[in-house]
Amino acid sequence: MEHWKADSEGIAVASEALRQGKLVGMPTETVYGLAGNALDAQAVASIFDVKQRPTFDPLIVHADSMDAALALASSVPAIARHLAEVFWPGPLTLVLPRRADLPDLLSAGLETVALRVPSHPVAHQLLKECGVPLAAPSANRFGRISPTTADHVLEEFTDAPEVAGVLDAGACEMGLESTVVGFPGGDRVVVYRLGATPLEELNDHVDHLEWVRVADAEDNPELAKRGEQSPGMLARHYAPRTPLLLLEQDAEIPDSDAGTGWLSFQGHPGLEGPQEVLSVKGDLREAANRLFGCLRHLDALGLDQLIAWKVPDQGLGAAINDRLTRASLR
Ligand code: AMP
Ligand code: MG
Repeated sequence: MEHWKADSEGIAVASEALRQGKLVGMPTETVYGLAGNALDAQAVASIFDVKQRPTFDPLIVHADSMDAALALASSVPAIARHLAEVFWPGPLTLVLPRRADLPDLLSAGLETVALRVPSHPVAHQLLKECGVPLAAPSANRFGRISPTTADHVLEEFTDAPEVAGVLDAGACEMGLESTVVGFPGGDRVVVYRLGATPLEELNDHVDHLEWVRVADAEDNPELAKRGEQSPGMLARHYAPRTPLLLLEQDAEIPDSDAGTGWLSFQGHPGLEGPQEVLSVKGDLREAANRLFGCLRHLDALGLDQLIAWKVPDQGLGAAINDRLTRASLR
């Protein structure tokens, strides 16, 4: 695959590849996406294929404007339109009833489609130039750590002929996936996935926001039902190859063997072995941004186990803890 600079020439070559049904690594403000023409059933199929993504896990479709995005829905509840006006372009994905002519696989057979307008200037320009909406899940093989640099994408897909190349726009600004929200019945507002738009910000615009922590998910039939509505919600995900043990925020340092690597929020004195610190100054934004890179780095060391502490559970911290929890599930 090619490694393109994200200038006007690179963007032109990438959009031509997309028009020909190829896939392209696309920078967004959340993470790098593996993009393909959302209206081309073949291109959509090859996204699933290349990612080894199970066909029950639907994709997010990206568009260059609110009108272009909402045009892919068959109906738009008033609250959804309001959220689109407030948060787009940006890291919020809206799950809406889908237009019948979209490829079925895009929605993994569901009656809904997930939509977002990204704020990244390169994503925006690429969408504008190629003239079609782009399905773009995170550019990693299924269940693995999401890519936040072009090099991560190159590592994942070097040997995949369907991927024409990656547009390199440096590290992603947020480094964490979008928040996913659905509207069952047209009046409820349910958070399916925590992400880069904090719940507190959504709450300012929604009367009654529903969501459930992944840690509370087990043996919860109501949630299992919602899990069906958002298949990515409950799965072990975002996972390093090395087993990860997750500790509460204030837990003491546990006994550990020599082959242990550590991931902490602000750093812990007295740890033996490699340690990654998410944010020395305790900034959740910086922590969110560094999370996947730190996990990748620790995972590459070939250790026996990773031990991580949760971060404060507010704002972006809730989404960071969600990713750490999923990474720790076996
Ligand atoms: P990814 O593109 O890898 O960041 O993951 C997209 C996630 O968005 C999926 O795993 C689902 O959890 C969620 N999603 C996408 N489409 C839908 C949909 N139609 N209904 C519910 N959730 C969806
Ligand atoms: Mg993903």
